[in-house]
Amino acid sequence: MEKVCPLCNVLQLITEKCPRCGASLVDGGAVSAYMGPYSPYMDTQDLPFQSENYCLHLLYCPVCQYDTRSAVAFVTM
Ligand SMILES: [Zn+2]
Ligand SMILES: [Zn+2]
Repeated sequence: MEKVCPLCNVLQLITEKCPRCGASLVDGGAVSAYMGPYSPYMDTQDLPFQSENYCLHLLYCPVCQYDTRSAVAFVTM
């Protein structure tokens, strides 16, 4: 048994909608992949769900550029 992130492994599609314009949000990838260009300290307080059981993803709207983060619960394979 292995815990994996369903989004990273393309087991699940994003169903969340943009709160601004209603377009379907797009997965921008796991947030850890975005840490590089930014201060690593800036984000830590925003990541309460970063753990062994969650994968934090950046979701963005391709229409209005809204973006948000979503903690994705791992699934057991
Ligand atoms: Zn993931
Ligand atoms: Zn939008």
